Amino acid sequence: MTVITLVVLSIAAARPATKNPIADDMDYSIKPGDDFYRYANGGWLKGNPPPVGQSSYDTRTILAEKTSQQVRDLVQNAASARATKGSVVQKVGDYYASFLDQDGIEVKGLSPLADEMVRIAAITDKTSLSTYLGTTLNSEVEGLTANADHVFGIWINQGFEDSDHNLPHIWQGGLGMPDRDDYLESSAMMAELRNQYQAHIKRALTLIGDAYPESKAARILSLEIRIAQAFAPDSDAADVFKQNNPWKRADFGTKAPGLDWEAYFQSAGLTDQREFIVWQPSAVIGVSALVRGESIDVWKDYLRFHLVEHYASVLPKAVAAEHFAFYGTILSGAQQMPDRGKEAIAATNGALGQAVGQLYTERYFPPEAKARAQAMANDLITAYRGRISNLTWMSAQTKQKALAKLAALQVIVGYPDVWMDYSSLDVMRGDAFGNMRRAEAFHRLCNLSKLKQPVDPIKWPINPQVPGAVIMFSPNAEFFSAAILQPPYFDSEGDSASNYGSAGAAMAHEISHSFDELGNIYDAQGRLGDWWTAEDRSRYREAAKKLVEQFNRYCPLLDLCINGKQVLSENIADLAGLLVAHDAYVLCLKGKSDVIIGGLSGEQRFFLAFAKRWRKLQTETAMRQQLKTDTHSPGEYRSDTVRNVDGWYETYKVAPGDKLYLKPEDRVRIW
Ligand SMILES: [Zn+2]
Repeated sequence: MTVITLVVLSIAAARPATKNPIADDMDYSIKPGDDFYRYANGGWLKGNPPPVGQSSYDTRTILAEKTSQQVRDLVQNAASARATKGSVVQKVGDYYASFLDQDGIEVKGLSPLADEMVRIAAITDKTSLSTYLGTTLNSEVEGLTANADHVFGIWINQGFEDSDHNLPHIWQGGLGMPDRDDYLESSAMMAELRNQYQAHIKRALTLIGDAYPESKAARILSLEIRIAQAFAPDSDAADVFKQNNPWKRADFGTKAPGLDWEAYFQSAGLTDQREFIVWQPSAVIGVSALVRGESIDVWKDYLRFHLVEHYASVLPKAVAAEHFAFYGTILSGAQQMPDRGKEAIAATNGALGQAVGQLYTERYFPPEAKARAQAMANDLITAYRGRISNLTWMSAQTKQKALAKLAALQVIVGYPDVWMDYSSLDVMRGDAFGNMRRAEAFHRLCNLSKLKQPVDPIKWPINPQVPGAVIMFSPNAEFFSAAILQPPYFDSEGDSASNYGSAGAAMAHEISHSFDELGNIYDAQGRLGDWWTAEDRSRYREAAKKLVEQFNRYCPLLDLCINGKQVLSENIADLAGLLVAHDAYVLCLKGKSDVIIGGLSGEQRFFLAFAKRWRKLQTETAMRQQLKTDTHSPGEYRSDTVRNVDGWYETYKVAPGDKLYLKPEDRVRIW
């Protein structure tokens, strides 16, 4: 597993109960104890055929569409506002408008690349090559999950064992195709993919007027194959302990000879840095050896090719079309180039994420909404304190550690209290290429400056306008964006019972991962080290067995059942989430009884909102795919988590004979 887990949450469907549209979505002809999912969602399931061309459709899709519409309006308005130079609105608007201005980009042709081409042409030896490579050491977080187009990537975060200092984490990169196996697997299919990639390299070099593109393309692919050979196997990425390789500055020269590390770190802005964490030592060693062993000319061809690839989106149409022909059509099967407007918004979000976020939250997530969501998060933490204290499988000494971790955990909602300051980033209308380059340089400097700052556990890793949540085990913090905290998932002016049953249960699900077999290798400060005992682990797994069996019995397709083991850890998190959210809901009432809305009690609305969150339409193919590969159960069965909760039986008068009824001793109790 990796340090950072990006989780796009499922979205709840509890519409504001005060408007009481609940009855439309339900199916009162079904007894809650027989089929709670269809009792809660029957009306919606019948009334919403999946849109043509979509393999699945759920409230997550609805919220993603809604958010993208909101962001589009904001960015387009910013572009037409012609706001004061230097303001957030100006930067957002001009970035978007420049990216969209394909005619202006066409007129400039390839001239924006000229300066960089001169720098590459000036490389004459190993030292100047190392200096140039140092300038490509970029800081995008995506590098943690996808190969970057530069030979190494950097991420500034606390150490695996040192939570007091930020360190540069160095990881492998430098491949144009997404996976190591694309280069190394001997199957006919992969061999053909490599042929296609080589043809793409040749066409890209032709577009920039390179002589001998054919032979250069072959040599570039050959270089990338050797880089891929140095990559760590994919299985290592699942083991964070293998990534914890502290290297001193001097180690690079002795352990990974070849590259001129002095020159490299100087141009990378890391001259004074003494300590590093190298995630994949084999890649650092391998690439460094290739700097010594491969001809300078091949490296220069490689760098020119990747320069064009990197900026394809802000270069003339022919370059962008060639990029799409390989990455869109051949790699992803897409037939049509994505809408330029959507790409422009994505690019603006990428470069000016918190600037767009500022506009987004001003409009859609006021401080009152943040306060209400934060109060719910605080109730969840209080509820977890009680649950952890009462766990039967966790030893007393482990509970102390879990409670210390809970006390240190930051659960942060909505948006940052202090926004990123973009004042040093110049955004100019009509300069799409320059804007992208300056934004990259700006983010690079921001990241490097963290090396001189104390660890900040509440540094937002997700933009507020992206519907989702991020769990950071290191440091110990979880983030829930403003975009995910909106109806139908969370209504800041709506009913608490519904909010706690939907968004509350989802947040509590995520929090549980900090204390389960994903999070038990990170302590209160986010340092690496297992804090469970062997007895905790065996009692936990024993308790979980019943949940595996319960889900093994669900068969969504005639010939295919759920694999209870594959989905176990997410099912445990669902159960924890539901129980803790319920405790938190009770806490928020502060001893008072809840009001009746639309004939439903607060307890009824709580469980109903939980079931509504899982509504989903999907094709049989999509269902089959999910059952085979996904670690999450299909929505209907996640909704059936209620079967293990005593409160649901009381609330809906579920009794022996009802199809979902479980005897008290058969209900799974882990949390
Ligand atoms: Zn989960």
